[in-house]
Formats: sequence, structure tokens, C-alpha cells
Amino acid sequence: MSQYAVPVVWSPETRRHDPRHEVWVGVPTEGTERADRVDAILDALRHRGHQLVEATPQPDDAMLAVHDVELVEFLRTAAARWAEGPYADLVGQERVVPYLFPTPAMTAGLPARPAVAIHADAGRFAYDTMTLVGPGTWEAARSAVDCAIQAAQLVSEGAGLAYALCRPPGHHATWSGFGGSCYLNNAAVAAAVLRQYGGLKVGIVDLDAHQGNGTASIFYDRADVLYGSVHVDPGAGWFPHVVGYADETGTGPGAGATRNLPLPEGTGDGPWLAAVAELAGWVKDAGCDRLVVSLGVDAAADDPESPLQVTAAGYREAGRLLGATGLPAVAVQEGGYHLATLGGLVAAYLEGHAASL
Ligand SMILES: [Zn+2]
Repeated sequence: MSQYAVPVVWSPETRRHDPRHEVWVGVPTEGTERADRVDAILDALRHRGHQLVEATPQPDDAMLAVHDVELVEFLRTAAARWAEGPYADLVGQERVVPYLFPTPAMTAGLPARPAVAIHADAGRFAYDTMTLVGPGTWEAARSAVDCAIQAAQLVSEGAGLAYALCRPPGHHATWSGFGGSCYLNNAAVAAAVLRQYGGLKVGIVDLDAHQGNGTASIFYDRADVLYGSVHVDPGAGWFPHVVGYADETGTGPGAGATRNLPLPEGTGDGPWLAAVAELAGWVKDAGCDRLVVSLGVDAAADDPESPLQVTAAGYREAGRLLGATGLPAVAVQEGGYHLATLGGLVAAYLEGHAASL
């Protein structure tokens, strides 16, 4: 039991996204970013004296500060566009799956325009085939944003720590793209809200097993939001594969405001916590006055999505290290897919962090 009852902002709407299957290396595989993740976390937190807060609909401005309105409109309308098309008869399934990706390999300097057919248009925003849009996806992703906004508001109003139970996760969503089971970038929205409410410099520390390429890219050229991540080495063949390397440190006004600390497969508590401590010191020394923690717990040993070997005690200590910065903090849920241990890992982090307040 923590002494500090952490506000836990959640929404039943976040259960509405059902990924069912992902398309991975050409075959449908069972979705791991499942709706019952919400209940696994709630069940663990409600017995520990935290304060549950149900999110209410929030305005779009913070979301549109970090996302292209065209992405938002696509996600809002995609499931209905798919339902209106011939897909039920053609393929018998109701999830939007891109069929081509209009990258420079295809457009090759020609004046490309948006595709009329949604199975082609989806590739303008989706960058993988495992992040499908179905009925309820928009409602869940938008409600996760509401959770992030309200948690950031609570911190702006004086809470030392608030937790946003965001689902689906967000840190792989870029300014105009979605992928990696993420649609809208909840952590980036939280940072935008903290800035709106007077935070001068926000530090984002990403503990998820995978580098948050979405968050990193959104703030890559900005000096007012730092992004630091500890994750499994993409150079060893892990998502996001093409970015997340140590020599990516920001550009322009954001030069030096990005840190990537990739770790080898199999890394456990010792080196992982050393990296967390380095990032905690970095955001503190850089003069940040607010903190966002991208709380992915898929670095844990039991998690099926990563080869890192962090323990619950490791997550508790990570919370203590980041709480010890003394920065008012929003913890935003990212990955974590082992249902039996997921809630306990989140609880361990929050207890460690709250104990430092
Ligand atoms: Zn992850």
C-alpha cells in the first residue's frame, strides 16, 4: 500500500478496441494488445488504495498539437468507410488492413494524391500491417487521449503523480502515422497539456521495451520537450527496427534533447536501472520542470513481446528513481502484454514512484 493515493484516470471506452488478429509476416496472428489489459491493470490498482477517476470527453486542441488533422480524420472515419465498401463480401472481415504503402519507393517523385479506395488509402497513415482499425478503435484511442489529458491536468493542478491507464498505447504513433499497436500518441498529448498549463520544459522518459519512435519523432526538433528512452537494441532485430539508435540525439533547436539507450537482449535489472538512473539525472540536470513517464512494462521477464528480463522489483526501483527527481509526473501506460503479471508491474512502478513523493 502506497502512502500516496495515485489518481488513476481510466475510461471504459478504452475496452472498445478489439484488435482480434494482427497480420504479421503474412499470416494472421492473435492480437496481444487486448481489451482485458485494462481490467488486469484496474484489478491490481483498485486493491492498493489508489483513486480511480473516470475520464470525460476532452477538447481536441492538445491532440492536434501533436498530430496531423488528416491522421485524426482518417482514424475517426476509417471503420465506417470500410463498412461502406465491398469488403464484407470480398474478404469477410471488418478490420481495415492496408494493401499498399505509398512510400517514396512507389511515388518516386511523381505528384501522388490520396487513394480513393480505403484499402489503398490506409497505407498513407498506417506504417505496418499489425495495427488494424475496426469498430471501436477510434472510440478507444480517443478515450485514451482523454485519460492522458486529464492526468496531465491533475498534475498541472498540483498532483505529484497521476497515472493515465491508456489503451491502446501511443508511443509508436507519429505526427501523421500509426503503427506498433498505437494510434494516437497519449504521452505526447500529455506533454502538450503540461506545456499548455505552464510547464516550461517537459522531460519524457520511456521505459517501454521498445523505443517510442512516435514520441521521439514528434519532439525531435524541439528544445522544450526532451525524450529519453531505454529499450532493447533495434539493431538486434527488434521493433522499431530502423530508428532508436544511440546516435539519434535530436536536430535543430532539439539538438541534444533526445537520448536513446539501447540494451542487448536478455538485459536484466542492473544495467536497465543504470540506464533509467541516467535518464532521470539527464531530465533533472537539463532543467525540466515536468515529467512524463511512458510506462511500458513489456521489459519484464515474463512478457512475450520483448527479450528484456526486468523484474517487478526493478520496476519499483525505476519508480523510485524517477520519483526522486522531484518533478511533477504523469505516468502514461504503454505496452505490457502478460496478463497475469501486467497489473502487478504497473502497481510496483507506481508504488516506487509514489514512495518518493
Ligand atoms: Zn513495447
